[in-house]
Amino acid sequence: METEIITPEAELEKKEILNRYRGLLRSCRYKLDDSDKKLIRKAFNISLEAHKNARRKSGEPYIYHPLAVARIVAEEIGLGAIAIACALLHDTVEDTDITLKDIEGMFGKKVASIIDGLTKISGVFDASSSLQAENFRKMLLTLAEDVRVILIKLADRLHNMRTLDSMERTKQLKIASETLYLYAPLAHRLGLNTIKSEMEDLSLKYTEPALFAEIAQKLKDTQAERTRYIHKFITPIREALHEQKFKFRIFGRPKSVYSIWNKMKNKGVPFEEVFDIFAIRILIDSPSEQEKSDCWRVYSLVTDYYYPNPDRLRDWISTPKANGYEALHTTVMGPNGQWVEVQIRSERMNEVAEKGYAAHWKYKQGGHGEEDPLEEWLKKIRTSLENPDSNALDFINDFKLNLFADEIFVFTPKGEMRSLPVNSTSLDFAFDIHSQVGAKCIGAKVNHKLVPLSHKLNSGDQVEILTSSKQAPKADWINYVVTAKAKAAIKALLKEERNKQAAEGREILKRKMSHLKIDFNDENINKITAFLKLQDSQELFYRAALERVTNKELKEYLEAKDDKTNNQAQNQGPTLEELVSKARGKQDTLMIGDNMQNLEYKLSPCCNPIPGDDVFGFITVHEGIKIHRVNCPNAIALLSNHAYRIVKAKWTSQKLISFLAGIKITGIDKIGLVNKITQIISKELNVNMRYISFDTNDGTFEGNMMVFVHDTAHLTDLMKKLQKVDGVVKVTRIDTNN
Ligand code: MN
Repeated sequence: METEIITPEAELEKKEILNRYRGLLRSCRYKLDDSDKKLIRKAFNISLEAHKNARRKSGEPYIYHPLAVARIVAEEIGLGAIAIACALLHDTVEDTDITLKDIEGMFGKKVASIIDGLTKISGVFDASSSLQAENFRKMLLTLAEDVRVILIKLADRLHNMRTLDSMERTKQLKIASETLYLYAPLAHRLGLNTIKSEMEDLSLKYTEPALFAEIAQKLKDTQAERTRYIHKFITPIREALHEQKFKFRIFGRPKSVYSIWNKMKNKGVPFEEVFDIFAIRILIDSPSEQEKSDCWRVYSLVTDYYYPNPDRLRDWISTPKANGYEALHTTVMGPNGQWVEVQIRSERMNEVAEKGYAAHWKYKQGGHGEEDPLEEWLKKIRTSLENPDSNALDFINDFKLNLFADEIFVFTPKGEMRSLPVNSTSLDFAFDIHSQVGAKCIGAKVNHKLVPLSHKLNSGDQVEILTSSKQAPKADWINYVVTAKAKAAIKALLKEERNKQAAEGREILKRKMSHLKIDFNDENINKITAFLKLQDSQELFYRAALERVTNKELKEYLEAKDDKTNNQAQNQGPTLEELVSKARGKQDTLMIGDNMQNLEYKLSPCCNPIPGDDVFGFITVHEGIKIHRVNCPNAIALLSNHAYRIVKAKWTSQKLISFLAGIKITGIDKIGLVNKITQIISKELNVNMRYISFDTNDGTFEGNMMVFVHDTAHLTDLMKKLQKVDGVVKVTRIDTNN
């Protein structure tokens, strides 16, 4: 038998643990029956035993943490016995010897599956951001199974934030930023507004301690003045409400430090200029069938005293926010010419506003069979998660966008209401109905008027989608949509479409290659892909399907291939020098110069040599000697295969006549750009042009031109000048203009 030595400190701790446990039971918002109490007691005992040797960073017994999380779950979120038991057990499988099997044996399948969800998502927010995102995605997947997993996780995170003081600074920063980035928006989406606010404030406290302290101090300093003002504002309304026999509460509430900081940051104003530092809240105790009309009666009463700003009336009673929030908000002109926000709602609405869905369910039970908006939302998450293509980081971004987005409400032709994020387009609406409707969408009628796919919808619009069986999704559709659902669907459809086209392109390419006597095999396909600088063979086939792999390109590939082979041969064989002197002997160097017109020389149009270029002559059967540049694309083939026809050549004096050279300019399309370029060429340098073409595409331009220059120095000078033109990115010499 082991004997335990019990110190007075340990005795005190034991008492404190029991105190906290009793506090948890008292804080339950549900009436617990005997089996509930038994379940919670059992979970507490097992957790206490499992964590008995562990301590938190602060030195406190570890069990304080699960007890605190359970209390948040019970008191602040308002969940029942199963969730409370799970909160007590939430760290056991991860941190102690207890296994999931043990849990299942002791508590059954339901509790085990929630603990499993919690274990999978706990402690995983480490390492890279993409891993974080992936884990967040997993977390949301488990959320779709049982929303309690996420609610307990939020409680866990909230308690960790409340006790962040004992952590090292780097950990504080990491945990606080994660909370702001992922958990607070999630709490918001689930309607847990109080928790969301506290998370934001705590995050700010640790990420921006000085700023946080400053704003908190200013709020404190202005408190007396604010209280006086609120009193002055409230008094006449309070009297009127009494007169009308309302049961109500009315009070002023300062906004959170975080929301004030956010306004300062977004509007670039100091604390003193943030006008809505507080809001007036009027909560009425009204039977549910009367609460809507009662809220409007209160509104009308408030506006009898203070003039409302018509642009700032928000009716979230007729159409609650997606997170369940219901209230009437208005901003009125208060005493001293100050705008004041007034929030009007029933006590029931208030509980939903503070506790979110947990409260919502409570009131919904035995409701009228309409679909639960939370279920709807979870369904949406599920579909976006199930898309195997969606990259975790993309997903988080889309998801966060949807988390923060305010909503609009639009209607189908039959009058069914759908909610979409603000800035949604007709195409978003089409994909919201069904991905096949989206895929075949050619336009829409909004309030009976024809609009394009990219048309932005407004609340109250009635939208009819027009489809055509011939329609196929386009790449730029991605730019027309804001919803994660539409984005994921378009990406998947495009990929599918591309694969289909690639299969057709493969056949087209096969025919083309056999025509040019190139074997259709993996080696050649890979080489052509590399030659055309494409990503993979799939892209090559896709281009072939669009007729964008030309015979010319394939021929160039063949030539390059030959050149390569010849190049290798040449490395072992004679050099250009040797070839030429072999053919003609040293004394036979051809002098090309001012008098060249009298001779039977021609400058080859394939590379347009100009004085200064390294050149050679090539004896042709019908056209005399043709001068090529040594780096002419054809040069190597000519030099190596027809060495006996090569003439060594050199330029003599120039300047009197001009030679044709090609220039290619690429850059960003700007007004007056073409004008500037042509001015430099014709006026400044007095160069004649023979050919010029400009193509613009999507803000970029490509210019090709053939100009007459004296020599390479002249050409280089011209190119340098062109390079300096604003908007020009690259100037290169080209052989010809085709
Ligand atoms: Mn924990």
